Amino acid sequence: MQTATFTPSVTPTVTPSFTPSQTPSVTPSRTPTATATPTATFTPSITPSPTEAGTPTPTYVWQKADPSQLRLPPADFTNNPHLWFIPPVPAGNSSPASAYRFGMTFTFGALRPHHGIDLANPAGTPVIAIGDGTVLYAGSDLETLWGPYNDFYGNVVVVQAQQAWLGQPVYYLFGHLQDVLVTSGQAVVQGENVATVGSTGIAPAPHLHVEVRVGGNPYDYNAVRNPELWINPGGYAILAGRVLDARGRFVPGNTVLLECQDAVTRAVDTYWEYSTPPDDELVENFVVSGIPAGYCDLSTEINGETVVAKDVFVKGGTVSNVTLQAESAQP
Ligand SMILES: [Zn+2]
Repeated sequence: MQTATFTPSVTPTVTPSFTPSQTPSVTPSRTPTATATPTATFTPSITPSPTEAGTPTPTYVWQKADPSQLRLPPADFTNNPHLWFIPPVPAGNSSPASAYRFGMTFTFGALRPHHGIDLANPAGTPVIAIGDGTVLYAGSDLETLWGPYNDFYGNVVVVQAQQAWLGQPVYYLFGHLQDVLVTSGQAVVQGENVATVGSTGIAPAPHLHVEVRVGGNPYDYNAVRNPELWINPGGYAILAGRVLDARGRFVPGNTVLLECQDAVTRAVDTYWEYSTPPDDELVENFVVSGIPAGYCDLSTEINGETVVAKDVFVKGGTVSNVTLQAESAQP
């Protein structure tokens, strides 16, 4: 095992030149509370992320799930972290673009729900094996379907991890690669170069798309889990949370604001619909990694009701939990 050393940044170190046809209009409103610091004016630093979802037609919006369609979270959190993997781009940026994390749609429904995370990096930046394993597939997705259609992820590398989890195989997938340096069936060791960043497939700007898939069918586009729950955060913290309505059901596509010890306001949207399922044990509907260890204040609006969680302790090097639940019943 290599020691994971990287410094998460909220904005990608490389600003993608990709400009979505729809200007991000994410302006979360925050209701001040008595203890709020007056200087904490929220400036959305949402950088357009390089995405593979193509150019949306202005009228089409991805529909949020009906809460009754989504898995009902259990009362407790079962939290056995499985942070087996190391950051995939040690020579560059391994922090996910914050505006298009796992399960998000980018600008509230404009783009396809995201099945992975995007790491903005210049073309040609080396990509390493994030865990020991065996290459299941290496090459173009023209012949083998990995996304919703062919030529979506371009050149891909898919590795089956050596370890299984809860009796299930675990895979990691890299998309939009420029060069593929391994072949199918080859064993890889954590840390070795397997590819370089590119923009093959549907990728308006070079970036690395990272997915984790769990279960018996690695070709299943919906067999994904949030990669931020699988990558060792070093000394930083990971927060996995639930946004619930008064009946205890997930609220999809809901913005959560976080203010942590570095005084940077982070925003994340809860998973939009069924195709980006939660972790089997945690059963979360949002995750933010790269948080400085310490305390965070969170807030969200659930059907018009402001729900806050103050002084949530986030521990470095592991996964912490939080629940934000509405009190007002909705029809
Ligand atoms: Zn992506």
